[in-house]
Amino acid sequence: MTEYGETVRQADALAHNTLALMAELGVIAHPENYTIFYHYLSGKNPDLSQTVDILRSNHQEFGELQCQRLHERFFGHARETQTINTISENLRRQLTVLLGHIQKAGDDTRAYGSMLGDFSSGLSNDDLASMRTALETVLNATHEMENHNKVLENRLDTSSSEISRLREDLEAMRREAMTDALTGIANRKMFDQKLRACAMEAMETGSPMSLLLIDIDDFKKFNDAHGHQTGDQVIRLLAQTLKQSVKGRDTAARYGGEEFAVILPQTGIGCARQLAEQIRHAISSKKIVSKISHQDLGQITVSIGVGNFKYGEPLGRLIARTDQALYHAKATGRNRVVSQNDIDDPANGWMRISCH
Ligand code: GH3
Ligand code: MG
Ligand code: MG
Repeated sequence: MTEYGETVRQADALAHNTLALMAELGVIAHPENYTIFYHYLSGKNPDLSQTVDILRSNHQEFGELQCQRLHERFFGHARETQTINTISENLRRQLTVLLGHIQKAGDDTRAYGSMLGDFSSGLSNDDLASMRTALETVLNATHEMENHNKVLENRLDTSSSEISRLREDLEAMRREAMTDALTGIANRKMFDQKLRACAMEAMETGSPMSLLLIDIDDFKKFNDAHGHQTGDQVIRLLAQTLKQSVKGRDTAARYGGEEFAVILPQTGIGCARQLAEQIRHAISSKKIVSKISHQDLGQITVSIGVGNFKYGEPLGRLIARTDQALYHAKATGRNRVVSQNDIDDPANGWMRISCH
């Protein structure tokens, strides 16, 4: 399964337009730059599209440095890779130390064993004085062995807590890499992973899976009227409302700037639609009070598209279908829920919008 749901013809047209745009902007046509502009033209990543649009409208150049920055921001994992390298290096060092301790313990045990061997071969000798000396040697060696073992135990303890700490670091990093910084809910990366996993599960178990795509209505106007910071406050509020509206196995994620997604495993389209209505209602019932001016800013509304997974289809196609439903919700007045079934029926054309 792939995130690219285009047909051969669509992909061909996109490839053609991508290369033409890159040539027009003077961008060097290597794979990293191609990725940026292919995603830009396909509109798969609203944040990326918005950023490139802003750069273009400001007549910024797309030199190698600019493109590198864009690639790193939207597709790169340099910081994560660096942290993983540091953690792996620490882990490697810890394991080398641990191996050293174990080798030393092995050497000590071998020396102790050979000393015991010497002692037992000396036992046939019935000279009492040499027997006493041999016994004292064994006793000393046993004490020494005991001390070595204690030191080893301490070292193993230290190494094992260090390894546990490194494991926690890795886990924290994994969580951070999957979390949206502004809202604390799943980010796009987590969304992609979960959607793939849920689609696999749906196919294995034969259970349905649905998807909601949620977009704030007229958010640009809201930002223009009340400022970006208050806009961010609304994005956080929406994320919290979504979190409260979904159950344990569902995933609410920030899909792009002011767009959210909810993955609903084991959920048919009817129930998904009901949940979407609940979410829409919950959001439009919230009163927005600016944290900066304490002014009552009224309500915000969202439009929601509802899609249902068809076994075996590329996930990009499910997303595109759900996005179409969302588009129709926008086109028919906003603050409403539209499911793929409302627009799927070719006999009724694109105009049939029913709410059942
Ligand atoms: P529509 O009802 O058609 O969705 O209209 P809209 O104005 O919401 O849609 P449009 O896509 O034109 O604009 C989305 C706006 O969302 C543009 C941008 O200013 C805002 N936005 C995107 N990401 C963020 C963000 O992280 N914080 C804030 N405050 N605003 C954001
Ligand atoms: Mg939008
Ligand atoms: Mg919007």
